[in-house]
Amino acid sequence: MNQENHNQCIHCDVTSCKHLNENQHVCSLDAITVAPTPMAYSGNPADESMCKSYSCK
Ligand code: SF4
Repeated sequence: MNQENHNQCIHCDVTSCKHLNENQHVCSLDAITVAPTPMAYSGNPADESMCKSYSCK
């Protein structure tokens, strides 16, 4: 894995995810994977991508 951006901060507000640090509104993982959703190409930005690293609490 490329470690160039190892210190990047991933801001997130998905409170149902076990990786969320709710006090700081950031992801606790060093890296995440973003994937296209099954509804990709709808033209609506909210439909195009999702966090594939999500894990329910
Ligand atoms: S894994 Fe994804 S959804 Fe969960 S806190 Fe990190 S960025 Fe947010």
